[in-house]
Amino acid sequence: MSLDGAITSMLAVTPGKPASLAKRDPAARPEGPGGSLPKAERRQLLDEELGGFTAELAAAQELLYASGTWAVLVILQGLDAAGKDGTIKHVMSGVNPQGCEVVSFKQPSAEELDHDFLWRAAKSLPASGRIGIFNRSYYEDVIVVRVHPDLLAAQHLPGHPEPAPALWKQRYEDINAFERHLERSGVRIVKCFLHLSKREQKKRLLERLDNPAKYWKFSEADLSERGYWDDYQAAYEEALTATSTPWAPWYVVPADHKHVMRALVAGILVETIGSLGLAVPEVTPAKLDLIHDAKARLLGD
Ligand code: AMP
Ligand code: MG
Repeated sequence: MSLDGAITSMLAVTPGKPASLAKRDPAARPEGPGGSLPKAERRQLLDEELGGFTAELAAAQELLYASGTWAVLVILQGLDAAGKDGTIKHVMSGVNPQGCEVVSFKQPSAEELDHDFLWRAAKSLPASGRIGIFNRSYYEDVIVVRVHPDLLAAQHLPGHPEPAPALWKQRYEDINAFERHLERSGVRIVKCFLHLSKREQKKRLLERLDNPAKYWKFSEADLSERGYWDDYQAAYEEALTATSTPWAPWYVVPADHKHVMRALVAGILVETIGSLGLAVPEVTPAKLDLIHDAKARLLGD
């Protein structure tokens, strides 16, 4: 099972070209099957598709582990209520928990602020054979920090209180170099921006306020950050444009329909791992001798 190649290339931000977020529809349903069916049936089809992808993902992760060369790093970015947590829960549901690790990046601690902005991410990278998922990432340092430059004060940068005017451009360069280093070291990176509309965010935030079971998810910051909507869109537009590279491409995943979003993220992941061309390591004749010998000894026990 695989995503139509035309869909993945449509979602990808072509390196060197603008991300053009404003032209991408957050409510798009590029998945194809069931387009004309009623909602419930369409969802069922999408969930079946997701199920197929998660099963493939489980098998792909085992192969990743057996072949022992590559790690996969999935970076999920998106505004509040874009569905990052739910996507991780559903997409990774079939993967062996030993083969995958989720790391969430919150406001940096005092210790983290005493280091460069890539430090905490570098400490949390997946080992070979594993899938690492970053729920937010070092991209926050060119997104939320860009929207609220006051946050820079706590980062004790050289030249503060007037950090270099080229700071953001330099950070994009550093990110691109870091990611190229990772790719060269055997970490395949896949980056998904969950592209939510302002209208759908309002609906989801209201759900958090209407449903006592979801109260815990609501943070006052969700509402104040919504006030900076245009600034966030501009920061994402620039960051995605500057950091979609051949070695670590960005995918803009329409996020207004959760079932569509999850199937697409799972499909992109399956395709990415598939592109590594992994194979179970070949057994050497010497190892085969050992296996036959061990079997004979066990049987004669
Ligand atoms: P949540 O994902 O809802 O748990 O929220 C985590 C919060 O931490 C978000 O508001 C992020 O913008 C914020 N955050 C993550 N990384 C940074 C950072 N480097 N600097 C400032 N805030 C951050
Ligand atoms: Mg939140």
